Amino acid sequence: MKTLRFRIAVVYTALIVAAMAVLGLILLRTESARFQDDLDERLLAEARLTTEAAAPLLRQSPSIEMLDPLTERLGVEGGVRVTIIAPDGRVLGDSDDDPARMENHANRPEVQAALGGAVGRARRESGSLGDEMRYIAVPIRGSPAPGESSGPLLGIARVATPTSAVDADLRRIAISVTIAAALTALGAAVLAALIAGPVTRPLEQLRRASAGIAAGAFGQRVEGGGTTEVRELADGFNEMAARLEETVDALASEHSRLEALLAAGADAMFALDRHSVIRYVNPSAEALFGRSVGRSFAEVARNHELTGVVRAALTANEPVGAAVHIEPQNLWLQAFANPIEGGGEWALLLILHDITEVRRAETTRRDFVANVSHELRTPLAGIKAVVETLRDGAIDDPEAAEAFLVRVDMEVDRLVQLVEELLQLARIESGTAPMVMTEVRLSGLLATSIDQFRHQAERTDITLRLDVPDLPPIRADADRLSHAVGNLIHNALKFTPPSGTITVAATCLDGAVRISVSDTGSGIDPADLPRIFERFYVADRARSRRGTGLGLAIVKHVVRAHGGRVWVESTLGRGSRFTIEIPYREPGRNVGPRGESVTAGD
Ligand code: ADP
Repeated sequence: MKTLRFRIAVVYTALIVAAMAVLGLILLRTESARFQDDLDERLLAEARLTTEAAAPLLRQSPSIEMLDPLTERLGVEGGVRVTIIAPDGRVLGDSDDDPARMENHANRPEVQAALGGAVGRARRESGSLGDEMRYIAVPIRGSPAPGESSGPLLGIARVATPTSAVDADLRRIAISVTIAAALTALGAAVLAALIAGPVTRPLEQLRRASAGIAAGAFGQRVEGGGTTEVRELADGFNEMAARLEETVDALASEHSRLEALLAAGADAMFALDRHSVIRYVNPSAEALFGRSVGRSFAEVARNHELTGVVRAALTANEPVGAAVHIEPQNLWLQAFANPIEGGGEWALLLILHDITEVRRAETTRRDFVANVSHELRTPLAGIKAVVETLRDGAIDDPEAAEAFLVRVDMEVDRLVQLVEELLQLARIESGTAPMVMTEVRLSGLLATSIDQFRHQAERTDITLRLDVPDLPPIRADADRLSHAVGNLIHNALKFTPPSGTITVAATCLDGAVRISVSDTGSGIDPADLPRIFERFYVADRARSRRGTGLGLAIVKHVVRAHGGRVWVESTLGRGSRFTIEIPYREPGRNVGPRGESVTAGD
């Protein structure tokens, strides 16, 4: 109980108890002095009575027989002990004891004083009775001789009474005073607690409010009641709390803004301390390496290059960047490690920007250049060889010359086709060639497409089937759509061994038509599946079949320009099915993503 209220109450109570004690003591002293005086006065009166009664008897005969009966009578009447002592100290009469057996009283201090002519007073234990007694002794004198002021000393009259009665009275007073003091102290304590309340209440409020603030509840305020000092303290406290709340709010909103920025970033971000322990990760970083806060970066990343970037930036205390390849996820990341000045626990911010796509596009482009060079070189080399043969004399042999020219023509056709495809793709992709949308009957379009390949199919003993019901016309760029379907049939023929079957089918769904080209050919490796629609992508196993990797890319772009989509299902060794889906809102009217004037492009 160390509260201020308790202390104030204790101090008040102690003060009042001390004051009561002093008052009580003073009261007891004065009372006991007054009681003493009263007693002395009463004893003195009794003593005077005794002297008057004893004087004639002493003059007559100072003997026990004369005086003892007197003392007994006086003692009974006065309620006190009466003793008469001869000037030589012998006891001549005593109301309570046998004078004959009493010792000589000459040396009793009160007797000594009375022998000297004064009033003797003493307080002591009675030698003969054992109680504590108050004694008053006065001289008994005879009548003075003429010319003298006082008569001869006849004896001493001594009266005594036990002090116990007085002591009992005093004790009663002491008890009353103590009880009064105790009651007052109790009242004082209650009063002190009541008085201390208003003084300590604002302080208690302050204490509670500051405890609240310490616990993070910054909205705590105190009422300004009480004394001026307390009011000022409360005002100061409230102002401080308001400032604190403002500051904390500002910090909190800044923190959430920062958090939102970091969280929204597509780049993975890590904050590391100076020992490369991860202190913060944003969701992208968590997606990359999992939960990693509190762990060492080296242990989480398990990548020498990345750890090297971090270490270099921390040691040099300047930004370090590098492109890094992450093996298990097969990702290319551009890492930026930026040391943070005064960032406290955050000594370094590491940002990992995913450049896998960029790298992939670069690789694809490189492959394309290599591929196209290869594609161009083969027919060009063929043409050069024929020209040289002709120049070497074959030109003079009309038959041979004719055959060579047919070969040159074929090679030139291949070149033209390649260049044509490249050009077409470039046009669709760049969006420069507008779509020519007309009403198209799919049955007719598909029949024409398939017919172009009949000859080739017969040569390789492949069955071409057309499975198209009578469909309502759709709006499409007939040339491009038939080119796309042609590419699918061409691929199917390329990858289907003799005696296989290729089926071109079409169905009408709610709001879309689907055209599918299925084959019983080689199928596609699942590893290649996600990439076959990319420009210039040629599956390794297919390289020998001299594709350019442009066919499916053209299909994809044509279908997209119609607002549709294309996909493939394939089982390795069993065959593939490519499906084109083109949407339309009402029969005979398909709508591209950009309305009527759909143009090709991504
Ligand atoms: P290419 O001119 O090389 O055929 P495409 O873009 O038309 O280029 O096709 C890309 C790759 O997709 C081909 O190299 C081939 O591996 C695969 N592919 C396409 N169609 C088929 C199919 N019907 N069966 C098996 N593989 C196919």
